[in-house]
Amino acid sequence: MTETEMIDFLQKKTDQVSENSNVSEEYLDEAGFRCCKVCGKRRENEYSMLGKIFRVRCLCECEQAEQKRIQEEQRKKEFALQVHALKSVGLTEKRFYEWCFDNDNGRNSKMELAYSYVQKWPQMKEKNIGYILWGEVGTGKSFFAGCIANALMEQGISVMMTNFSKILNELNSRFEGKNEFIGHLVSYPLLIIDDFGIERNSSFAMEMIYHVIDRRYCTKLPLIITTNISYKEMTDPEMDEEHQRIYSRLFEICIPICFEGQDMRGGEHLKKREVFHQLLQ
Ligand SMILES: [Zn+2]
Repeated sequence: MTETEMIDFLQKKTDQVSENSNVSEEYLDEAGFRCCKVCGKRRENEYSMLGKIFRVRCLCECEQAEQKRIQEEQRKKEFALQVHALKSVGLTEKRFYEWCFDNDNGRNSKMELAYSYVQKWPQMKEKNIGYILWGEVGTGKSFFAGCIANALMEQGISVMMTNFSKILNELNSRFEGKNEFIGHLVSYPLLIIDDFGIERNSSFAMEMIYHVIDRRYCTKLPLIITTNISYKEMTDPEMDEEHQRIYSRLFEICIPICFEGQDMRGGEHLKKREVFHQLLQ
């Protein structure tokens, strides 16, 4: 840009700003600068360049505040869109949307662990700590998991909440790309598998379930599972090897929480639980 072009550019910019400004809210001070009637601050600055003096439009305090407000509003809108997109992908059933802390009636004391999980999410993620929520139907396990999912997504964190029927349907419908699908599934910062039940599955299904859990285990990212299977069943020493290897993986990364009022104090996963309880302090 030559000097003349630069002068022209600045002059045009100044003229343009003058056209756009709301003169009715302004007055001229002693030096002839346009000032805002509300905050009393100048809306023009003076610059000298190449022997010429230019007055360039600037924002007064109220205009700066308004600009900040508009930017903040825009940021909020964009964030809301991002959360909406996360939920539309990560909440695979409509009812999952309802399972949020706003709908917690406060009657289930176990919910404290859901609140803490969200509060301590960075540490839970780093230490790869998840939950196995077990208990009978209607004890609030899925609600608990859904609350965590919604709350994290509302912070912009990507979560996938699904179940094995959906995962198996997807895998069955694919001739190719099974590995890619599982790879994508296990890459979510938090994976929640609702309503986990593996007692009546085919060998193919069992293989796939193990594959998903094992891949998740290898990613070192947390997993939350809800199930109606009792802790006793899950830790039954008589269990066949196929089931045993699935549960053994699960218990390595998930803290069991009972939704039937029983206290879980097994000896086998004390180390992980100790870290978990330290995190909650
Ligand atoms: Zn002002």
